[in-house]
Amino acid sequence: MAGEAQADCLFCKIVAGEVPATVVRETPTTVAFRDINPQAPTHVLVVPRAHHPNAGALAAADPQLTADVLRETAEVAAQEKIDASGYRVVLNTGAGAGQTVFHVHAHVLGGRGFEWPPG
Ligand code: 5GP
Repeated sequence: MAGEAQADCLFCKIVAGEVPATVVRETPTTVAFRDINPQAPTHVLVVPRAHHPNAGALAAADPQLTADVLRETAEVAAQEKIDASGYRVVLNTGAGAGQTVFHVHAHVLGGRGFEWPPG
């Protein structure tokens, strides 16, 4: 069923505390933790506690939870003090776009300049 924890999902395990992570914020519906391989001075991942494979699936299944994740990206940016200088929120969707973990996550990147278009 949509949203149920998946036994083989790395981010479900982080949400459950079965795999360690540096958690920076938690809400009843989301967890934010530092990326293990940071691509910027600040690189935090925001995930819903519920398992949804990607952004489109999340939006279709649970609009309120989608909003929770997006709101948390702004809360993380404020907490990390990257909001004033600008930051990037990335939702890689599908392997062809670089998604490697199929539990939806918003990357929050900041603390350096960014180029457009992205690579
Ligand atoms: P994607 O490529 O799916 O958009 O992003 C997955 C992200 O998860 C990558 O940036 C990768 O560095 C991060 N990641 C992979 N394994 C772990 C882990 O065990 N712990 C943490 N904190 N991040 C991870």
